[in-house]
Amino acid sequence: MKTQLTGMSMNQLTNWVTAQGEPAFRARQLNDWLKKGAHFEDMRNLPASLIEKIKSLASAQAARVIERHGSKLDGTEKLLFGLEDGHTVEGVIMRYHHGISFCLSTQVGCAMGCAFCASTLNGKLRDLTAGEMASMCYLANRMVSPSAIGNLVLMGSGEPLDNTKEVFAFLHHITSTDSLNIGARHISLSTCGLPDQMHRLAQEGLQITLSVSLHGPNDEIRQQIMPIARVHTIDAVLDACRYYIQKTGRRVVFEYALIQDINDSLDNAQELAKRLRGMQCHVNLIPLNDVKERSLRASTKVQVERFLNCLKALNISATVRRQLGDDIFGACGQLRAQRLKTQLSEEGSQ
Ligand code: SAH
Repeated sequence: MKTQLTGMSMNQLTNWVTAQGEPAFRARQLNDWLKKGAHFEDMRNLPASLIEKIKSLASAQAARVIERHGSKLDGTEKLLFGLEDGHTVEGVIMRYHHGISFCLSTQVGCAMGCAFCASTLNGKLRDLTAGEMASMCYLANRMVSPSAIGNLVLMGSGEPLDNTKEVFAFLHHITSTDSLNIGARHISLSTCGLPDQMHRLAQEGLQITLSVSLHGPNDEIRQQIMPIARVHTIDAVLDACRYYIQKTGRRVVFEYALIQDINDSLDNAQELAKRLRGMQCHVNLIPLNDVKERSLRASTKVQVERFLNCLKALNISATVRRQLGDDIFGACGQLRAQRLKTQLSEEGSQ
């Protein structure tokens, strides 16, 4: 693979540029272009000879946009990115009143095997690099210009805490003035609950919001739908959350996808409230996005409402997450899964 310039700090980029025998000030010019989502042909203030030289060694953007699906319902845009080795990953641009959010993938596929999630249907193929993640942000930011991405959510395909080296490097980079300078408080990272890595994140000194996919009030229910719950107990996950809150002063957000007859009863809501009592947290209820490959069904609107009201009555801060992009394969991994399926059937019919 070519050298990826997009995830490099100014220091690293300067070292790389000078190692090619070029003056250090070229690094700043190059970086200004890279973070605008530019390709080599856009970089008009750089000498053609320099571009020719670095083109053979490095990629400008480590990802490119290969599909773009706009939702007619709410302005959400789902992007499919192509990577240099031919893999594809998803990203979603979401428009809210408070600004534009970009939802980012952290791995090609996912190894966690959650029963309701399309990202994990074919397992994990590889981790994304910091350069690829930064590049996707730059390309998305370019698309929304003259506005800009204000919030980042690491909630696309993949388990970010199963790729801590690249994800942490990416977080430090994207929050810096060399890059998009996105405030850490405007970044959410979602995990299925890996306690050791949650501790490490707490020690990184980043003020990001930690979201934890709970999806059940106890080990028994979590184990039915999340294989990782057989490795880490809910108590260990919640202890890691308490540590995160204590270290960062930030409240933790719990994600809870409501699945009919699995985790949506009022008993489940009461048990959840009991477990979270006294914790500085918020519960995000998510109506399950149907994934055709999976047999699980979304809870009814009435049941979602009852679950929400039960949590609130027990003094747990909770809201129902607005569903965006339902008409464009909005759920994690759905667009990529759809493309893989089309490719397979095309290959089959050839
Ligand atoms: N691996 C991380 C982040 C990726 S998924 C994690 O597990 O948190 C982002 C969120 O979407 C998670 O809460 C995940 O459980 C949820 N999700 C996945 N598939 C879904 C579906 N079909 N419907 C609703 N939420 C889903």
